This record gives sequence, C-alpha cells and structure tokens, in this order.
Amino acid sequence: MMDAGLGAMARALGRGEVSSVELTRALLARIDQLNPGLNAFISIDPELSLAQAAAADQRIARGAAGPLTGVPIAHKDIFMTRGRRTTCGSRMLADFVAPYDAHVVEQLDAAGAVTLGKLNMDEFAMGSSNETSHFGPVRNPWDPSRVPGGSSGGSAAAVAARMVPAATATDTGGSIRQPAALCGVSGLKPTYGVVSRHGMIAYASSLDQGGPIARSAEDLALLLNAMGGHDPRDSTSLERPAEDYRRDLALDLKGVRIGLPRQYFADGMSPDVRVAVEAAVAQLQQLGADCREVDLPNMALSLPAYYVIAPAEASSNLSRYDGVRYGHRASGYRDLLDMYQRTRAEGFGAEVRRRILVGTFVLSHGYYDAYYLQAQRVRRLIAEDFRAAFAQCDLLAGPTSPSVAFALGERSTDPLQMYLSDIYTIAPNLAGLPAMSIPCGLGDGGLPVGLQLVGNYFSEARMLGVASAYQRASDWHLRVPQGLATRAAEAGDGAAQPAATERN
Ligand code: GLN
Repeated sequence: MMDAGLGAMARALGRGEVSSVELTRALLARIDQLNPGLNAFISIDPELSLAQAAAADQRIARGAAGPLTGVPIAHKDIFMTRGRRTTCGSRMLADFVAPYDAHVVEQLDAAGAVTLGKLNMDEFAMGSSNETSHFGPVRNPWDPSRVPGGSSGGSAAAVAARMVPAATATDTGGSIRQPAALCGVSGLKPTYGVVSRHGMIAYASSLDQGGPIARSAEDLALLLNAMGGHDPRDSTSLERPAEDYRRDLALDLKGVRIGLPRQYFADGMSPDVRVAVEAAVAQLQQLGADCREVDLPNMALSLPAYYVIAPAEASSNLSRYDGVRYGHRASGYRDLLDMYQRTRAEGFGAEVRRRILVGTFVLSHGYYDAYYLQAQRVRRLIAEDFRAAFAQCDLLAGPTSPSVAFALGERSTDPLQMYLSDIYTIAPNLAGLPAMSIPCGLGDGGLPVGLQLVGNYFSEARMLGVASAYQRASDWHLRVPQGLATRAAEAGDGAAQPAATERN
C-alpha cells in the first residue's frame, strides 16, 4: 500500500482496507529509515500527523470523507504551517514557527489530507540542485551521489522514494518541473493565479506559483482540485469558477495538436535526453496526436530576462528580513544599521546574497531602464511568442531539463552553469502559462528523463489529459529508483518493496 499512488490510497481508505493511522505510521517509519540518507525532510512531527490521521479515520467512519481524506502528503517548507517550523531552507528562518497556515495548507487540511512534515528546498527557492539549503543538500533517490534538482528537491525526492505519495511545491522558473524530471516523478505548475500565494513565502511574486508533485497525472489532478481556487487574500488570485481537473483524464489524443518548438529541439539537450524525449513524442503521435514544429523566436532571451526580473523582485521581497520583526537576529551589534547588516550577512547564504546584490543593482537609479525595463519588454515578447504558437497548436512538448541529474557539487561553484539547468522551464513562468513534467525514459546512468508539456492559459485539465493518455500507454511513471528497496531493506525496512504494479 505504501507504494500506491494518492488516488489508489484514497480508494483503499474509502473502502476501509487500511486506516489513515496505519498508513501514516507506515510512512513515518519509512521516512525514519530513508531520510538520514536522502535528507528530503527538514522536519516531521509524528504526534501532529497521527492526530490528523485519527481525525481523518473518524471522518471516514462518519461517511463524511472527501477525495483526499486520510491520505498522507507533505509540504515544501516554503508554505506556512501554523504551529510547525517553517524555514524556507534558510538560516534566517531556521527557528521560525508560522503563526498561520498558507491557503494551500488550509485547503488540503480541510480536504482531510494528513501532513507528514516539511520538505527540504533550496534557500528561499533559489537554486536548481537543492544545494543552497541551510539544512544541507537533498540526495537523489535514484543515485545518492546526484542532486535531486531544485528548488523543490525535497518534494520530488520524497515522492520518488515513496516516503509520501504526493507533495506540494512551488515553481518560479522551473522548481516543480526540473526536480520532478530529475527524480522521475510528475509535477505541474499551474497558470499564474490559479493557486493562491497567501502564506507561500515570496521569492519573485510575479513568477511564483504553487503546484503539486506526485506520481501520475491523476494524482496531480486530485491535488490541484484542493489547491486551486480563488482566495481574496492574494490580490493576484484569479476569480474563476471551481474546476474539476480530473475531467479530461480519459482524453483521446486523436486530433490533439502538439507543437514542438524548434528552439527546444536545437542543440543544447544531451543525447540521452534527446533520445527519450523524441521517443515520447513518437508515442504521443502513435496515440493519435498531430505533432508539428512551431517557432518561439525569442526563447533564447528568457534566461537573461528571468535573471534580471527574479532577482529584482527577490531583493524587494527579502528586505523584510531585517532582524526586527521575525527570524534570525545577530547576537552582537553596535547600532541599528550594524544589526541589519550582521543579521542579513549571517542569515542569508551565498546564493541569496548574490541575488539580492544583482536585484538591487538592476533596480538602481541609472540602470533601471537598461536592465529591469528592458527585461520586462523581453518578457512581453516571450508571451507573444507563445500566443502565436498556441494559434497553431493546443499544447507544446519538449524536454524539461537539458540533462539527467548531475553530481552533487558539479555546478555549485559556477552560477551560470547552474542557471542553464532551467533553460527550458523559465519561459512559461515569464508568460504565466501552465506547464508540467512527466517521466518519459531513463538516460545516462539509468537516471530519469522528463517530458515537458506547456499549455495555454487555464488548459491544466487538458494537459493532464494528455499526460494521462501517455501514462496509460507507458510505465515510466511507475518505475521505482533502483537500489532504493535494497537500501531500505539494509536499514531494516521489510515493507519497502520494489515497484507496486497497481496503476494509480
Ligand atoms: N532555478 C531557478 C532559480 O534559481 C528557479 C527556481 C524556482 O523555480 N524557484 O531561480
């Protein structure tokens, strides 16, 4: 049962085949065994989780269960969770206990989901490898000498290692899709404004979007049903009627027009990734999709535009960590200015400080027009490129990441090399479009490759339908990291079996 997906667990709970307390205990035991090696969780609180599970069991017994009642999940540590530590992967918030719940947490609690703990991440969601976390790097369950991707590395690794069937995550420039790809799981970044940012610690507010990481399109849809919806506390939350994101899961691909952006298939992706992605495209075609080449002429500008806009917004958002109101405060200082300086120098890691410096620079008088304003113009051009492409097709397909998971330490001393990890994921954030990554093969070293789908605004249900059609015809999303069962068994976990065959 522990290997089952979210939907399968929910059905078993509903039929009384397993209780939420049993599931919660089993997964907490698995976390105990695997987390010392993977470092996916920053905190767990078994008592709180078991209390939630007991309440869920009562709700199921009363016949008042919803589709997520009793299923264990975990939250990226960027989401505020009342009464639990919320660190955002930073020393600045290492001891911060959130006074309220994020909208996403409220919604999932109300649906009856059980929170198993808080997941590791790059500091303030800045990174592509989970190596900038104050709490140490997360290791990739497929190969512990490799990174899991970032910034939602803890979420993707925990789902891949079957410590939890699904997790929340956030995506500013790829942080849901890239770690999902590198860990062999599925992840969805919704249209900007579909998921409320209330209580989601801000990195770059015009780009940040919460979303789910899980094992299948069906599970992503289940989770998004609870996470999405209007929230008046976030001024960018969209007022739209509630949607059932499961509605197109049985979609027939006949006649679906899939665009293959020329720029995504040009040089840049490694040969093993190309083989897997092209095979996936061929399979979509066999399933009836009508694939055609499209053009996104300004794609190459997305990385430079992003690395002006995101740091600019971050430098403004992170000015709130001043040692006065909450978070870390330096212990010794001469005066107020010295307190600010020491607090921020001690509390933020190197990558966060680098972004604050870049952001402050591009917003400064005399450079604002040359950098920030120019980047906003480029952003508009990129959105226009997508608009033109979606006049010719229903969605786009391509690689999520240019390579499979790279080695820990391999890119951490070269920021530009690290930034290139997001070359395929950033443009949809700049345009506010929904995008997802699903497993589509194994590349060098037997490591997972992700297929990226990008849809037009509000096409989540349809994209999930395409992903679901692919997952009905393939089994990449059911693969379990090799060696994981052995490692768990070595740690004394008899329950960790290889791939469950139940389709979820
Ligand atoms: N890796 C990108 C960055 O460092 C994206 C991170 C994210 O999506 N949160 O900014």
